[in-house]
Amino acid sequence: MTEYRIYPLVAAKIGAVKGVVTQMVDMTTPIVAPVLAYYLDGGTKKILVDTGVCEPGPDGNFHGFPIVDGGAQGMIKALAGIGLKPEDIDIVIITHMHFDHAANIGLFPTAQFILQKTEWEYAKAPLPIQRGVYLTELLTQLEGYDLVLADDGYEVADGVKVICVPGHTKGQQATVVNTSDGIYVLSGDLAYSRVNIYPEMTEFTDAAGNKVPCTPQTGHAFYPPGIHTDLSDWYNSIWRVLSIAGRRSHILPGHDPSLIGKVFPEK
Ligand SMILES: [Zn+2]
Repeated sequence: MTEYRIYPLVAAKIGAVKGVVTQMVDMTTPIVAPVLAYYLDGGTKKILVDTGVCEPGPDGNFHGFPIVDGGAQGMIKALAGIGLKPEDIDIVIITHMHFDHAANIGLFPTAQFILQKTEWEYAKAPLPIQRGVYLTELLTQLEGYDLVLADDGYEVADGVKVICVPGHTKGQQATVVNTSDGIYVLSGDLAYSRVNIYPEMTEFTDAAGNKVPCTPQTGHAFYPPGIHTDLSDWYNSIWRVLSIAGRRSHILPGHDPSLIGKVFPEK
């Protein structure tokens, strides 16, 4: 089976309060997180996971979140960092249709897009409070592209498949990648950060280099983030992802500062 190398790419930085990452604990602590995309190197097709964040408004925010170095230029720069241009990409896997994962799709008009069928349906009619994080114009744009509405377990390429992991959204998908060090799972926003996977962490460093204290969740297997469509689904999905990855260190989250500059597997 094809073995891939996984490159986390920083498509932008996004500000939030820490409680968005840690289930409404520490709601006044500001953090800066990377908006991550991933490039999968090693197969016959050039595969990108997620397409960055949209351009913020004149005040530098989108839906109340400060965005730095985002938009199309952020995604172009992230790809240039590994010697690629948008037109080189053959396949784009969209984890979910939130504005900080599925923007800039106009950079990839000839790529094939992979999205879960369930996310496609949910994105057309999100829960009222979540409408602002979905951009309806992206759905119209995607309809004009080579779009695969995938089911759970869809094989994207030799050594790469997607699985449906609801919880953060109704139809988010994780990407299961074969490597020389076993399976890695790119979780999308099922986990924002390692904090969600290692709930006993007492501190992490944010994308701006600041130390951020963490209230540990001692005795818990996981630490859920703060944004969900269904928290029960979330627990089922994160346990499933762990069983597939085999090791917590092989789950790669959607916004973790500690992944910047690394390549997986690390050995
Ligand atoms: Zn999200």
